[in-house]
Amino acid sequence: MKRYTYRRIILTYPDTLSPREAALFAKRQEHALKRVEKLLRLRHQNDVRIHIKITPFREHYVNKSTIYYSFPIFEFQQIIENNALLAAGELHELTHYTMQEFVPTKILRPDPPGFFLIEGLAIAVDAMVDRQEASFLHLLAKGAFLLGALKPMLQIQPSDPPFLRYEITGSFTLFLIERYGIDKLKNLYKFVSDDAFSTRVTQILRKSLFELEKDWLIFLEGYPEKYARYIASASLDLNGLYELPIMRYGNRWFRQGLIGHMSKSVYSQMSSLYKVYSALGRADTLCRFSQLYELFQNMLNIYYASLQSWQEAAESFREAQQILSSQHANCNRILALLKRAYSLFRKVGDIVMMRQVRLYVAFVLLKMKGESLEGDHSKALGFLREASDFLDR
Ligand SMILES: [Zn+2]
Repeated sequence: MKRYTYRRIILTYPDTLSPREAALFAKRQEHALKRVEKLLRLRHQNDVRIHIKITPFREHYVNKSTIYYSFPIFEFQQIIENNALLAAGELHELTHYTMQEFVPTKILRPDPPGFFLIEGLAIAVDAMVDRQEASFLHLLAKGAFLLGALKPMLQIQPSDPPFLRYEITGSFTLFLIERYGIDKLKNLYKFVSDDAFSTRVTQILRKSLFELEKDWLIFLEGYPEKYARYIASASLDLNGLYELPIMRYGNRWFRQGLIGHMSKSVYSQMSSLYKVYSALGRADTLCRFSQLYELFQNMLNIYYASLQSWQEAAESFREAQQILSSQHANCNRILALLKRAYSLFRKVGDIVMMRQVRLYVAFVLLKMKGESLEGDHSKALGFLREASDFLDR
């Protein structure tokens, strides 16, 4: 392990990363911290400890004193080379970290009454710098409401599906921030662990949580129903992927969340669709400008076709993961499924998922040879190369 300090960022990182990569990463984190401070209107007093690990799978979290980022090596290199990749979710962990310092009584309870606000705020902060992300959250919330999948905020538990714990609480919190301002929200945040949280809501925002949630649904009426339904049904289907992929690597269990980066290409098509739709404004405008209407129809068809391919790819991938986590895994069957998933992900241009599948293939090859990596970086690269050869064959 090496150490690098840049202003308030104290970074520890494995020997497999170069000092240049570590320095670039630390600089970006300091920059992101400043953005978080500006959005939350607070000043973070202490240093920020960040620990990078290079692992086969992505996993980010915060504990009391440290932010942990686990990256597959290739993903880390791409993050360093390409600023855009980390942009989504970059402020999330830093928000948790600074809020932990801001709240004088640390949040110790695993499921505090104001649970929704903890993740909600971290999601909302990311959406505050990305309007497209904000529309996505609100569309998803509206869609979940239409499909009857919404829950009252106070009933959302850590065991609920991710879209409820993250995107939905994010949409609601973002709505509150835009209506009442960040200072009121921070005030409320101080009481997330308080048993009288509901009373605090009424004191601080002058409305009960029930009324606020009603206002939120009224606000969501402004979002087009059709797209809300598309987004929600796609997300609800894909949410199932979240719970399955638990696999053992070395002596650790990794839980792989897919939804955050699962179908960038499908979602980006969805958002361009949404842009055209918003530009058109209303359905009657659509009828008057037939060219736009055709363009819209074409985009819709492309979107459906790629969504279908993507879902088939995800199915194969999920099946491969299931077999992999069973006792007597048939490795050849897994490799065949992964290869199918890979070619379908390639068809829709989902490079993030292609990379993910490649990691799994490398892992299966490793397993078939009965070897372990034990931090051997060059050996890991060898397996990844072998995985590429297999997939491109
Ligand atoms: Zn979080």
